Parts: sequence; structure tokens; C-alpha cells
Amino acid sequence: MTVIIPKEKNFYAFSSSLNPIYIVQKGEEFILETYDCFEGQIKKATDLTDQLDWNHINPATGPVYIQDVKPGDILRINILEVKVAKQSVITAVPNQGTLGNIIENSETKILERKGNILFFNNHLKIPINPMIGVIGVAPKFGSISNGIPDKHGGNLDCAKVCKGNKIYITSQIPGALFGCGDLHTVMGDGEIIATGAETAGSVRFRIDTVNLEGLPTPFLEDPEYVSTIASSPSIDEATYQATHAMADFLKMFVGISINEIGMLMSLVGNLRFCQVVDPNRTIRFEFPKWVLKEYGFTMPI
Ligand code: CA
Ligand code: CA
Repeated sequence: MTVIIPKEKNFYAFSSSLNPIYIVQKGEEFILETYDCFEGQIKKATDLTDQLDWNHINPATGPVYIQDVKPGDILRINILEVKVAKQSVITAVPNQGTLGNIIENSETKILERKGNILFFNNHLKIPINPMIGVIGVAPKFGSISNGIPDKHGGNLDCAKVCKGNKIYITSQIPGALFGCGDLHTVMGDGEIIATGAETAGSVRFRIDTVNLEGLPTPFLEDPEYVSTIASSPSIDEATYQATHAMADFLKMFVGISINEIGMLMSLVGNLRFCQVVDPNRTIRFEFPKWVLKEYGFTMPI
């Protein structure tokens, strides 16, 4: 039986001082149930964000201790399944997101899902892409609010952190202390209004470690691409870090010369926004696996 960890077991900041609520073995499947990012405080269109208790925002379920994981180990977090609730919430709030200066009134919209379709209104149906907003491990020192994305993961809000993909994060402490929350039924790159289709749900994971010493993490693998992910208060700096991380990866693991790395990243790589609204902005750089294969490199199975 796959263990199911309930959403009531949660935390608001990744920290090595948290007590683990469950111990998993490497390779063991487990399920984390999650609240939405408002911890269920918004249930109907008349519930506005100015009434929120901000001490109960962005809960992540966990933390989970992963047996036999040491500091420096690279976790391969396999996202096997992401289930989302029937109802999602999106908000427009003055001064939030890139359009915040022209949004005059707060509005909450409740979005109903039927199967793989989310109803924006009676007519407009949006195909869903369930994804995880907050996913990460404890930092070595101090604590990092779940609202902040960084090297440990956190509030990456990357639409590709979804079913079938793998995210690689380096453990900072024994057992890693893993957790996740902030699921979105669907979200576009950028998350420009600062909310996606916020929803409760559950995620089935299998976490193991891989022997890829030096891999720049967070690192993402989907069927077509590998991606480096970087977060910084400035989009320019995050872009610098994500592109340099990919260049490092291509040099170290694939053995391409730096000039050809630059040429290939320019020809077939893509710079993508994850989100531009959190305290750190998150950028990823994706590079196609078919080119890696041409150079004789494949990610470990
Ligand atoms: Ca988020
Ligand atoms: Ca969110």
C-alpha cells in the first residue's frame, strides 16, 4: 500500500529544524495530499484576498525524511501523478503581478473543472495542465519561506513540474526533508497575475538519488528536454545563472566546446520564464535531448 501523507501535516518554511512527519525509503512511492496556496481560506467568489490570514499561505505537506540520503546527494524526484480538486481559485489583486498597477479592485474567480477541462466561464474551456508550484528540500542553514524559490527549490512555479517529469534537487542535510504544495490546475509561463488556478490535490512521488556529481540543480527533465532552473530577484541575473548552469552541464557531462555550446544553445535551446512575480524570479533554460543523444549522452534511466 502506498502511504498517503495528509495535508494537515504541513509547514510554511523549508528548514533543517523541522521534525520529519514520515520516513520514506529511496525508490518507495508515496503520496502527499496538499491544500491550495490559501490553505482553503477562499471558497467562493465573495472571499477576497484582503480577508486572508497571511500566516496560513503556501503550506507545503511534509517534511518527508528520505532514508540514507546524505548532504550533497542529488535527488531525482519522479512526479508520477498530480491529481487536482474539482474547484480552483484565481485572484486579481491591486499591486500584485505585472498588471497590478492597473488592477483597481480585488476579484476572486472560482473555476470548476470537469475532467480535463477547466471552465473560465460558461463558454471558455481551458485544457488543464496540473503542476506543482512549491517543491523543495530544507536549506543547510536557517529557514526559507515557502513563498521564495531558490537553489533548494521552493516556490519555483514552473509549469513543467508536472506528471511524468523529473526534477533534480541537491540535498543539503541528511534525509533532505522534502515537501510540496501550491498545486495549480493550469498556469501559463510567467504566472503574471501572481496566481494560477490554485487548487488542493495530491501528488504521487518516487524519489531516488543519481550519480551525477556536479549537476547544476534545480534541474528538470521532461520527455523532450533537460532544463536548468535559476531564481534571483532580477530576471537578468536569473537568466545569467540559468544559461551558465546549462553551459556548465553541457561542458561537464556532454563534453562540447564552449563556443559550440553557445552556438547550440542559441540554435536549439530555449530560454523560458517560470514565474516573474515571486520575491525571486525563476527562469529556466531548456535544451533538447535529441542533441545530447547525438553527442552520445543520455540521462540515466
Ligand atoms: Ca506559487
Ligand atoms: Ca500558487
